[in-house]
Amino acid sequence: MRRNHSRLHCLSFDVEEHFQVSAFASPMRRRHWDQFESRVEQNTYKILHLLERRGIKATFFVLGWVAERHPRLVKEIASLGHEIASHGYSHELITAQTPALFREDVRRAKGILEDLVGASVTGYRAPTFTITPETEWALPILVEEGYVYDSSIFPVIHDSYGFRGANPWCHQLNTTSGPLWEVPPSTIQLAGIRIPIAGGGYFRLFPYPVLRWMLRQVEAQGHPLVVYLHPWELDPHQPRMNGPLLSRFRHYVNLQRTEERLARLIEDFSFAPVREVIEPVRRNFQKHRALAAKRQEIRRAASIGAPIASADSRLRGV
Ligand SMILES: [Zn+2]
Repeated sequence: MRRNHSRLHCLSFDVEEHFQVSAFASPMRRRHWDQFESRVEQNTYKILHLLERRGIKATFFVLGWVAERHPRLVKEIASLGHEIASHGYSHELITAQTPALFREDVRRAKGILEDLVGASVTGYRAPTFTITPETEWALPILVEEGYVYDSSIFPVIHDSYGFRGANPWCHQLNTTSGPLWEVPPSTIQLAGIRIPIAGGGYFRLFPYPVLRWMLRQVEAQGHPLVVYLHPWELDPHQPRMNGPLLSRFRHYVNLQRTEERLARLIEDFSFAPVREVIEPVRRNFQKHRALAAKRQEIRRAASIGAPIASADSRLRGV
């Protein structure tokens, strides 16, 4: 039976094929995507069954390329009550895109997904978290294209992504085109180094009690966890690909552990889709901002001796 925890955390899955991961990417492999064996449906269904047994809803960042080829899968995910969000269309790293190509990519993916599920798609996660200091230009484009939140900034140091020193908690970014909520994957500061703990190879590497202890540390600080996994991580029998040794280690380490580990995780913590988890954070933020504005108005009115009723009435009910 599921334990009753009051704090809700974000559970998310990047829905892509095992042969689309950036660590093994090459122009040659991309040209042959349609010829590889597709395993994304069977792997995603493993996740859906696991979540269904425990009545848990999550966010699925679906790649537009996958959605075009597996429309029934996307509709099925949405009909089970999960959130459909966008992983872009082509899985091209943003660091390798121009602003114009990026806009086209995120617009195309959003259109495909919204046509399939008949609802607005408001969340985005970049391929391999490639919103970095060099690609910050992508953030206002997301706002202009109708996205409400982004989950692409990883506040760590890594060889192919990462945004050192970025705010590691859910927060509002003020882009030149308006506000955007940022939902970074969970990290923990240990011995002065911020390390990722809530997804990918890191999630599979640590012994589970160690992982749980680290996640509890983040939870104790009052922040929602942001966990991310991929359907191919529940597929220990996927065909092996050639690539650099480090990439092969990260991709294949402990794949046989993922399914059981995910089952334990959803027993030990309470999860919900990203949009649902960030809603109270957004409301709280707006409340604090309104209170700060009110205090500032009162201070200004007091300093010039003007009545403060107008400030009060304007902010009442916020
Ligand atoms: Zn991806």
